[in-house]
Amino acid sequence: MARIALENVAHSYQPAPQGPADFAVKELDHVWEDGSAYALLGPSGCGKTTLLNIISGLLVPSRGTVRFDGVDVTETIPERRNIAQVFQFPVVYDTMTVYDNLAFPLRNRGVAAAETDSRVREIARMLELDDRLQHRARRLTADAKQKISLGRALVRSDVAAILFDEPLTVIDPHLKWLLRSKLKQLHHQFDFTMIYVTHDQTEALTFADRVVVMYEGEVVQIGTPEELFERPIHTFVGYFIGSPGMNVAPAAVAGNKAVVAGHEIELDRAYPTLDGAANVEIGVRPEYVEICRGEDGLPVSVRRVDDIGRLKLVKVDLGGHLFNIVAGEDTEIAATQARIRFDRRRVHVYADGHIVEGRAA
Ligand code: ATP
Repeated sequence: MARIALENVAHSYQPAPQGPADFAVKELDHVWEDGSAYALLGPSGCGKTTLLNIISGLLVPSRGTVRFDGVDVTETIPERRNIAQVFQFPVVYDTMTVYDNLAFPLRNRGVAAAETDSRVREIARMLELDDRLQHRARRLTADAKQKISLGRALVRSDVAAILFDEPLTVIDPHLKWLLRSKLKQLHHQFDFTMIYVTHDQTEALTFADRVVVMYEGEVVQIGTPEELFERPIHTFVGYFIGSPGMNVAPAAVAGNKAVVAGHEIELDRAYPTLDGAANVEIGVRPEYVEICRGEDGLPVSVRRVDDIGRLKLVKVDLGGHLFNIVAGEDTEIAATQARIRFDRRRVHVYADGHIVEGRAA
């Protein structure tokens, strides 16, 4: 396994890029630590595959340096980088047996037969392919074929990293969860450096130790699932992570008070004046807004209540701004008017999309 460093890496598919908008990946400095499991998460077109291809060597970046364990590999072809890759669709040899498919990467590198055999059987057992080792791959379902692709990546113990590009797209929904947990288990067992591209937050948050969130060619936040949930440093991360995403509303902020549509909200910290910012907002997750009883709290109109089993999803209007609330199943909600309260410790302030640090009030 390797420590992979990207130094001032940027990529444009255009021969003469004019400005940041022409870059599919904007300038980026990042180290992928040896043995960690990362998810690369973001909407379609934000540059995830471009970044993955720069790491694997399928693409030479327009700028910057890629290092594996300190060695410059920017111009090194994929075969020499010692990377295993799993793509959206299975890459298997249809005429070979499952066993031979799994053994192929090891035989190719001259690994001894006994070691190959024990490694193939171990991986097959983990992926629950061991009862089909002598079947030809052609006869298998798409799910099983993709398991072989995963197995072919996992079977080698000498790879610098394993890269996954939306590998569970063709997998049946109920198997997805199973395979994701398996990958996590294999990661813990073998300490692979893994980078897993997805646009699905559940996939990213359950798989990874650290999630790298991309937006319009930029890495906007790198953090544990908890950090991304509790402290999104960009409003995009707030929207994109969580279901529903973070509520964001324009606000006037002064000291430890925010005013949204004429309503005052107390904040836990004090903020500097933000006159320089074109756009000042507060952000609060639906889980941290409470419907309160009596006369306390801010007056809102109730727009919609969805009972989703153990929770209620409530949409309210505060002076023309809609807020989602995740409430307990027993919460009483009046048909038209209600009052809400924000958990002041969980309200963040953003200037032009970026979080603003407050100081203890
Ligand atoms: P998806 O989830 O849809 O695969 P992504 O996040 O992986 O998207 P990329 O495929 O890296 O995003 O694309 C980033 C940007 O670069 C997009 O605007 C895309 O249209 C553009 N792009 C990607 N590949 C090429 C290419 N070969 N030539 C020109 N533009 C490209």
